[in-house]
Amino acid sequence: MNIKYSSSHKNTEPENHVLYIVGTPIGNLNDISSRALNILKNVSLIACEDTRQTKKIMSKFEFTNNLISFNKYNSFKKIPKIIENLNSGQSIALVSDAGMPSICDPGEDLIKNAKFNGINVICIPGPCAALTALVSSGLPSSQFIFEGFLPKSKVERKKLLLEISNNEKTTILYESPLRLKNLLKELKDYCGEEREIQVFRELTKKFEEHIGKNIKEAISFFEGKEILGEITIVIKGRNKKIENNKVDEKKLKRELIELIQAGLSLSSASKYLAKKNTLSKKFIYNLYKDQGKFFNDDYSY
Ligand code: SAM
Repeated sequence: MNIKYSSSHKNTEPENHVLYIVGTPIGNLNDISSRALNILKNVSLIACEDTRQTKKIMSKFEFTNNLISFNKYNSFKKIPKIIENLNSGQSIALVSDAGMPSICDPGEDLIKNAKFNGINVICIPGPCAALTALVSSGLPSSQFIFEGFLPKSKVERKKLLLEISNNEKTTILYESPLRLKNLLKELKDYCGEEREIQVFRELTKKFEEHIGKNIKEAISFFEGKEILGEITIVIKGRNKKIENNKVDEKKLKRELIELIQAGLSLSSASKYLAKKNTLSKKFIYNLYKDQGKFFNDDYSY
């Protein structure tokens, strides 16, 4: 179904019969937009995950409005009434405790139902911890994978960790501070301790921290510390090119010795190994030089 929005709706907001999905700050209350404030002040009612959180915004910006609680425990009961109110002409704003509703927060089902019932849904975008961490990381950010919280089920979790270890794109994860150490250990097992990673703690807040260059550093930073606050993790994708280009020099040297001991000249052995491993003959010859020239071979390059 195509719904037409009036081109002037931004000047007349909030409009009747519209469900507004409003992004709110992930820590710093000043991150709220003036458009979001206008909607929250003037809609018929605000459906909020926790009324106490929304009251903090109302108190800081000095306004009041009608609040109803809308969370993962009561959403199925509340959706029909909210749809009825929208149909009867109300404008309703949906907010979560922090960030964008529907991103690891309630909202999806209400939005789906509203759309199904022909109600206009308009998003007032705001902060999101995942994107704030991603752009702060300096890691490749135009293509990325957001996994939210990893599943608790062992099988599902292992499957996803394996996928993350193989992904070439940056991955973003949410985690509770209590489970962070365990997750870092799992990431080390699957991705290796050298994998680039950054742990973001308390984004946009007074004690914001960006921790680590790689998994090893992040683990050692948190060792013996109690972890508090909100955590988002950004993991660099696997670099298959570099891994493929990593040459096992020990193995090559051993093969070189074996070929020469079997009777091949250094020149032929180098040529053979260079071709087999798509390396230059000079590279193999340099390995021979490193070896201390313990073969009696008058190899000239
Ligand atoms: N809807 C939110 C959003 O748009 O980011 C996410 C809600 S999810 C229930 C809460 C999780 O987001 C936290 O456990 C943490 O992983 C992450 N998060 C939220 N605020 C954060 C902050 N200020 N710093 C770091 N991570 C944060």
